[in-house]
Amino acid sequence: MFSVLAVRTPTLPPATHTNCYRLGDTVVDPASPEPEEQERLAAWAGPIRRIVLTHAHGDHVGGALDLAARTGAGIYAHADAPVPFPLTGTLADGERIDTGAGTLVAWHTPGHADGHLAFALDGTGEVICGDLVAGEGTIVLVPPEGSLAAYLTSLARVRAFATTLWPAHGGPQPAALADHYVAHRHRRTEQFLAVLREGGPASPETIAATVYAGVPGANLQIATMQVLTHLAWLHAHGRVRPHGDAWMLT
Ligand SMILES: [Zn+2]
Repeated sequence: MFSVLAVRTPTLPPATHTNCYRLGDTVVDPASPEPEEQERLAAWAGPIRRIVLTHAHGDHVGGALDLAARTGAGIYAHADAPVPFPLTGTLADGERIDTGAGTLVAWHTPGHADGHLAFALDGTGEVICGDLVAGEGTIVLVPPEGSLAAYLTSLARVRAFATTLWPAHGGPQPAALADHYVAHRHRRTEQFLAVLREGGPASPETIAATVYAGVPGANLQIATMQVLTHLAWLHAHGRVRPHGDAWMLT
């Protein structure tokens, strides 16, 4: 089994840390940009040969160059991931990584981020799932990178074989959590549609303010991004259309 180290990162609340995972000679998401956390990460990682990244967000890649410099490890990610530094190589969907202590299989799981990868420990249902789900709260989909269609497909792909999801933020979760995430997204879609049905054309900000009014601690800016992601999905399905700066039912 892999070992886990949570390091402090500049991530989105409620999370404050990102989990780094190690299996054999491979570390997933050496995340922290903070020097003292990088020190701790290097001591935990020991001699490694390979760094793999679930996706290019800063709270996942912030310590990759430092750990590579200390260990000589190569850095690998999916070709679609906009990693802000040169990679040693890319990982394709289905690619197998022999770590010396088990094989990780890369699964292309976009939706939250371009080129997002999950890493399944072959022969088990254990999946290091990056930002596919979280130990607390839900995952933010920020347009244009965030795609609800891709995200729902990715959740279903991993759900089909996973038993345990090891997220980047928070503790391990039963794979059935993915079902709740899918249901949550469909419930939000219905709530956003209801605002347009009951009040006529509305801006994404107004839809967000209406639906998230009763959600404790909701951040209106992040909520508006979720509305935009869902509107893009509904637009692709022919159920809403732009109306000036607002949106309306078709
Ligand atoms: Zn992310």
